[in-house]
Amino acid sequence: MIIILKNNAKEKSIVKLEELLQAKHIKTNHIQGINQNIIGLIGDTSCIDMDNLYAQDCVESVKRVQEPYKNSNRKFHPDNTVISIGNTKIGDGSLQIIAGPCSVESEEQIITTAIACKQAGATMLRGGAFKPRTSPYSFQGLKDEGIKLLLKAKAETGLPIVTEIMSQSDIDLFTDVDVIQVGARNMQNFELLKSLGRCNKPILLKRGLANTLEELLMSAEYIMSEGNMNVILCERGIRTFETMTRNTFDVSAIPLLKEKSHLPICADPSHATGKTSLIESMSLAAIAAGTDALEIEVHNDPRSALSDGGQQLTPAMFSDIMEKIRGLCNYFGRKIG
Ligand code: PEP
Ligand code: MN
Repeated sequence: MIIILKNNAKEKSIVKLEELLQAKHIKTNHIQGINQNIIGLIGDTSCIDMDNLYAQDCVESVKRVQEPYKNSNRKFHPDNTVISIGNTKIGDGSLQIIAGPCSVESEEQIITTAIACKQAGATMLRGGAFKPRTSPYSFQGLKDEGIKLLLKAKAETGLPIVTEIMSQSDIDLFTDVDVIQVGARNMQNFELLKSLGRCNKPILLKRGLANTLEELLMSAEYIMSEGNMNVILCERGIRTFETMTRNTFDVSAIPLLKEKSHLPICADPSHATGKTSLIESMSLAAIAAGTDALEIEVHNDPRSALSDGGQQLTPAMFSDIMEKIRGLCNYFGRKIG
């Protein structure tokens, strides 16, 4: 981190700034230029709040030269993180296919869909038991009953299950869940992230609707700094001025996150586009961009779905897309599962 001092900075104010930095165990290096005086900070600057430095009278501007995320940063961990889930792994070069309905609605619905997803080639089952809905009057999920039904579907198919948590007070209900999902709306629920950092389950962390990739990595940092290194980053589209799609799928986030971080990446073309007609092309694009997993919504009868009916694939549509996915994986020499 570099601090550029104001030209009229008073000695007293510079000394105060130095004391503040020393208290945080940061060493300083003064560089006297012709037009500008600069202080270079040496040490772990991740604990320094840039905005607070601006409160010091002598500070003109502050620049970071190192990323504020440490645990998730590839610079400090060059090898890919590989996370074990059931009998399979994510991040080892294989492609995981997480498929299933937006919401768990009934035993028949989740079991039928799970069997169909498995037959088509899915390697994990998704399904929301706790649903974050824009309206409090919309279906809110079957909650603990939904998790029980997912566990039945797991027993029936052998597929590991992925489901969303909305509050840390529900964490005990997730004991037998294989992957805990943090939805886009909770990406910056820091208390929830910290409590997930204290469990040892894989966490699928979805990018917030209007969050930068650095903010996503800082949220991963909240989980990892508490001890849980099993984080999967998920690109699920961001909000832009475009209205023809539900969100705008940021495909470039996939290779960029891979460059910046060693964590596995998942792509969710269902929420990213909101349109069944775009799931195939966006799935293939995400694979070409290097995603480690795809999360795709599939429902045994999308027309009767209690949430996200317009973006959920029928089992037949999913099966057709899986054919194309298999073709592309063959081309890249990647195995599914
Ligand atoms: C979901 O996966 O069901 C979901 C609600 O996704 P997101 O948080 O990305 O909107
Ligand atoms: Mn959904």
